[in-house]
Amino acid sequence: MPQPYDAIIIGAGHNGLVTAAYLARAGLKVLVLERRELIGGCCITEETWPGYRVSTAAYVNSLLRPEIIRDLELKSHGFQMLPRSPSSFTPFPDDRYLLMGPDKNLTQREIAKFSIKDAENYPKYEAMLTRVADFLEPLLDMTPPNPWGGMRDLWRLGQLAWKFRKLGRVVGSEAIEIMTGAARPILDRWFESDQLKATIATDAVIGAFASPSTPGTAYVLFHHVMGECDGARGVWGYVRGGMGMISESIASAAKKHGAVIRTNSPVARILTRSGRAVGVVLADGTEFTAPRIASCADANITFTKLINESDLPGDFLADVKRIDYSSATVKINVAVSEPPRFKCLPTAGNGIGPQHHGTMHICPSMEYIERAYDDARQGRAATHPMLECTMATALDSSLAPPGKHIISMFVQYAPYTLTGTTWDVEKDRFADRCFAILNEYAPNFLASVIDRQVIPPPEMERLWGITGGNIMQGSMHLNRMFSLRPAAGFAGYRTPIRGLYLCGAAAHPGGGVMGAAGRNAAREMLKDRL
Ligand SMILES: Cc1cc2nc3c(=O)[nH]c(=O)nc-3n(C[C@H](O)[C@H](O)[C@H](O)COP(=O)(O)OP(=O)(O)OC[C@H]3O[C@@H](n4cnc5c(N)ncnc54)[C@H](O)[C@@H]3O)c2cc1C
Repeated sequence: MPQPYDAIIIGAGHNGLVTAAYLARAGLKVLVLERRELIGGCCITEETWPGYRVSTAAYVNSLLRPEIIRDLELKSHGFQMLPRSPSSFTPFPDDRYLLMGPDKNLTQREIAKFSIKDAENYPKYEAMLTRVADFLEPLLDMTPPNPWGGMRDLWRLGQLAWKFRKLGRVVGSEAIEIMTGAARPILDRWFESDQLKATIATDAVIGAFASPSTPGTAYVLFHHVMGECDGARGVWGYVRGGMGMISESIASAAKKHGAVIRTNSPVARILTRSGRAVGVVLADGTEFTAPRIASCADANITFTKLINESDLPGDFLADVKRIDYSSATVKINVAVSEPPRFKCLPTAGNGIGPQHHGTMHICPSMEYIERAYDDARQGRAATHPMLECTMATALDSSLAPPGKHIISMFVQYAPYTLTGTTWDVEKDRFADRCFAILNEYAPNFLASVIDRQVIPPPEMERLWGITGGNIMQGSMHLNRMFSLRPAAGFAGYRTPIRGLYLCGAAAHPGGGVMGAAGRNAAREMLKDRL
């Protein structure tokens, strides 16, 4: 006999867990089904080598919505942020370096090493972003209105237009540019120092198959300044115990409210009857029924693998099939015997200095990013890739054996499909290239490597179930944002199948460890009488 629940969540990504926790808190009998042996999706900690607890996918947090931390009392379930200060460090080939944020005085002093004018402009640039964020950030927590919907949707659109109008002409046009434009012209307008622009531009392209000159990258840049860390806006931090502690703490809250979470339970089909979702069947044939099914898997998996295509309207399916899942990144996790010692800023003692607290960018110029992107556009893993390195062990020694460290390298650009070769052939060569580049700046690095795990896009797809290895469950271009995510007319978490919802990054507001999609989906699900 199939086991009945009030709601079934497909996938224990952090968003799916958030949905489960809110539904269970509202009194529903909830079942979460995860295909892998562990929960968390792309927000996980794994013991990759004995004694090393690695955030194998996502590695820093800021975006997790404060309301979720509060509502689900995540701190009492083990969630703790470790703010990073400084938050970024960029060494340059001429042995200069740039440390930045969140200490405003430090940032200004550091930028002034490259340009006095930029140091003066930087606080004004941040103030501009804050004004735009004040308008855009509340949108994260709302269900996007449907421009093709009824009067209520039109009323809500009107309210948004009114709010936008109140931004005024100047900030309003800046907001439009941020939502639609390329990062590079904005940075060129504000700053003259290539070192500063290259450091900031990394946030505009992270995870996107786009260069800073590509329209849409200004929003990606902005997406990265919208979060907070313990109340401090735009500050990113590590999570004590690794990113998996976010998922674990949400799961613990969900379980406290009665949700059941099953791992090793891949859903093979969503069962429908007369156009409505009624249950799921696992790969081993086990069936569960519920009037509400929410999928945290991406739209491609949900609608082309788990549902009979004939159950969906043709135009909706065609729109889903047009989603851009191109990917650009390789994740390399490295166990090292000591921190990298940068030529431009050596350290004494245990070798940990301020340069290791935040993201260590190996990305010396805007041209460097553009060249790396050009390689990828032509089907090659970049010859000189951009490296974003973090060493969470600088702030959380519990993650590795005493004295040892974990370096997470998030590397760009690297396409899913390589021209004339495969990732099986290229993966180690590419990782060797990344290591050699870091070694140029920190000559002890190569000798310090104990072990490494290299995860190119096809491997991301296999491991984490993300189509194309796209880290955001689909591109974050304007044509797939807000009322258009995942598809025009279906941004309200509901799908063409009654009782079937999307609750993951495929839905508004998209990728990142935010939990907003999960929370918004739960709110909509609770409104529907089924
Ligand atoms: C390498 C990498 C680095 C990143 N770095 C950061 C970062 O530092 N900070 C940040 O904020 N964001 C980062 N991101 C993005 C962020 O991690 C994701 O956008 C976010 O975790 C998505 O969460 P989700 O819950 O919506 O979906 P997912 O995490 O994709 O979870 C979906 C879940 O569904 C499961 N699933 C799929 N199909 C089925 C099925 N048929 N049956 C059962 N279960 C199924 C999957 O196994 C998975 O557990 C990164 C992502 C990657 C891949």
